[in-house]
Amino acid sequence: MKRLAVLGHPVGHSRSPAMHTAALAELGLAGEWSYSAIDLAPDEFESRVRAMAGEGFAGANVTVPHKGAALALADSMSETAREIGAANTLSFDGGEIHADNTDAQGLLDALPGPAAGKPTLVLGAGGAARAAVWALAREGAEVAVWNRTALRAEHLCRELGGVLVEAPDQGAFELIVNTTAAGLRGEDPFAELPLEAAAFLPEQTVVDLVYGEQPSRLLAAAGASGANVVDGIEILACQGALSLRIWTGQEPPLEAMRSAARR
Ligand code: NAP
Repeated sequence: MKRLAVLGHPVGHSRSPAMHTAALAELGLAGEWSYSAIDLAPDEFESRVRAMAGEGFAGANVTVPHKGAALALADSMSETAREIGAANTLSFDGGEIHADNTDAQGLLDALPGPAAGKPTLVLGAGGAARAAVWALAREGAEVAVWNRTALRAEHLCRELGGVLVEAPDQGAFELIVNTTAAGLRGEDPFAELPLEAAAFLPEQTVVDLVYGEQPSRLLAAAGASGANVVDGIEILACQGALSLRIWTGQEPPLEAMRSAARR
């Protein structure tokens, strides 16, 4: 049996086990591969990960708060993971640990069309924002970044691209990507973010990485204005599909992953 897992703290809420278990079944690999969730406190992360290859693990997804630590302990890494400074995918090959970041390409894959040339607003400056800004700037989008703590956004832009904005004009963007946790714990995103519920436009695409409540309040308002919406589950499915391809070498069954993550 080849083992896979998502490593986080907390991790009980993760939809990755259901999503990957459905994908492995769809690929006919259910008897050979398994996927579970492992809750690891920060002080046990490194020793536990180093032991995993010897316990039959072929790879792992990594989520909050371990993405930086995952990159730091890897023996090798993709250029994407190195430039973003975070890894969400580890592969164990013999004694070697390889780090990848599929959050960046997962976001691009989830968009309804190319981001190149589009005026784009990224809200946030945490780990998810780093992957989003890196991906969108590399794709050729015109990226502006707003964050509650402006200094963090300034540092992010200096490192990864994008231009800091402190009072963004909502109507000026074709693509708006919320990577902040605003709304995760039931907050009103319109009280926390520089957006107005009634000011979305039908020609805009609005992405909210937060998932839980479906649709999020942000996406409900954007959808009511006729904007295209992309939710956090779609992004989860797209990044998970890329991780699964890295581990198994097989074409991931995206539709099965999507519907398992939504159930
Ligand atoms: P993080 O590194 O802790 O960053 C959190 C970000 O949210 C920071 O920019 C922070 O601003 C901002 N923030 C938090 N609470 C806020 C509030 N009440 N109002 C305004 N801004 C607030 O976390 P992360 O890893 O980037 O994750 C961010 C969100 O994305 C989480 O909800 C996570 O679940 C989600 N996510 C989803 C996926 C997916 O596949 N769908 C993948 C990754 C992450 P300050 O800098 O001012 O503190």
